[in-house]
Amino acid sequence: MRAGKVQMYTCGPTVYDYFHIGNARTFLVSDVVRRYLEFQGYQVKLVQNITDIDDKIINRANESGVDAKQLSQKYAAAYFEDSRHLGIRPADVHPRATEHVPEIIELLQTLIDKGAAYERGGDLYYRINRFPNYGKLSNRDVKDVRAGARVAVNERKEDPRDFDLWKMAKPGEPSWESPWGRGRPGWHIECSAMAMKHLGETLDIHAGGQDLQFPHHENEIAQSELATGKQFARYWLHVAFLRTGGKRMGKSEQNFILVRDALRDYAPEAIRHFLISAQYRHPLDFNDTSLKESSSAIRRLENCLIELRQYQEHHANTPVAEAERSEDEIALIESVDAMRREFNAAMNDDFNTAGAIGAIFKFVGNVNSFLAENHTHPSILVKTVLGNAYRKLTELCGVLGIYAQKSDARSDNALLIEHLMQLILEVRQEARNRKDWEISDKIRDSLKQLNIELKDSRSGTTWQQYDA
Ligand code: AMP
Ligand code: ZN
Repeated sequence: MRAGKVQMYTCGPTVYDYFHIGNARTFLVSDVVRRYLEFQGYQVKLVQNITDIDDKIINRANESGVDAKQLSQKYAAAYFEDSRHLGIRPADVHPRATEHVPEIIELLQTLIDKGAAYERGGDLYYRINRFPNYGKLSNRDVKDVRAGARVAVNERKEDPRDFDLWKMAKPGEPSWESPWGRGRPGWHIECSAMAMKHLGETLDIHAGGQDLQFPHHENEIAQSELATGKQFARYWLHVAFLRTGGKRMGKSEQNFILVRDALRDYAPEAIRHFLISAQYRHPLDFNDTSLKESSSAIRRLENCLIELRQYQEHHANTPVAEAERSEDEIALIESVDAMRREFNAAMNDDFNTAGAIGAIFKFVGNVNSFLAENHTHPSILVKTVLGNAYRKLTELCGVLGIYAQKSDARSDNALLIEHLMQLILEVRQEARNRKDWEISDKIRDSLKQLNIELKDSRSGTTWQQYDA
């Protein structure tokens, strides 16, 4: 790694459809890794490709009777729109395969010159036995690779394990001129050519979903390292699957939720919270309650931040002289430091976002207890402590992208709702004490109409707001 700089590449979407929250997990992890490294002072250059030519795109275009280019442009635009709404920052470069055909051809020519690629009737293939390290990333022996490679037996290949580099044009398909006739690039060569063009021959971090480790990333290594003689990527970051009902969320399983549909029902911060609630190498299970639970967590966080801010504003000029900090204040100051320490320790442990979220919410609990105990006699000293707590909390939430500063109007409304709900619950509790079940039920049912659900328990009543 060059001092202070990180060169990072993430395999991006194949733009033949809208992307789902499983794909989003991978893109979000890349976004959070980038934000955290920047937070640590690194200058990160992130490149994430757009695969805009591929069998899936051509097939979908043919099925729907549109031009492949039009189709890929539509879904690339949708990708940018949905990821913006999800708070995924755009990469520094989003190279498209169709705009890098000259670089791809140049790399193919190098592979041919080095004896690692060969042509058969307008198609090009990679000669796997020229690269003895093949399989090192996924710990496969090159001799066993055939079992995993989902290639139909192709008589043209010298060896069934060899993979496609360039495909000869078929009638009606998009194609480009090349020394081997008209054709189009394969998917693997696209990533090698674009990563090296924009980031140099050796990357610091290469990321993608777990399914890409083999064969896609093995093939990228084989192509790039044979061409340059240098290590292609120092660290590989493979994101485990988002699963539902025990199965990978995917287009073929028909069990997916599109990002744009999820965004209709849930705040982006809630979706992000859920998608990073497990460390990226662990599978994450999606079920009916996942996003609701994340929504409640985000509301708890927002309320805490609103309280912190309002507390300072409303009590700013209450000059209660205090010579020394109280024990509570000292404990809160220490818990700010503890949050920061625990957050960094978790993120330094292979980007453990679950631990980082844990540190944030533990602190939210501490702030809430502090505010509950210190309601009536705020001092100037308390104000400083709370101001610091607010800044640290928003800073760390910003690294994970789980808190976006809302407009004051919305924040004030949220606080007003909180106070009105306290009042309503108190009135209802009084009715229940009188055994006036009619009023008590009426309040509960009317709130339900407003998507607010009450839960009565021995320790009191809590409320939860659902998205309509
Ligand atoms: P695709 O558009 O199919 O090329 O996928 C884009 C990215 O999403 C790739 O890095 C995939 O590995 C990743 N991906 C696909 N399905 C899932 C899933 N269920 N969970 C996490 N990542 C996924
Ligand atoms: Zn790739």
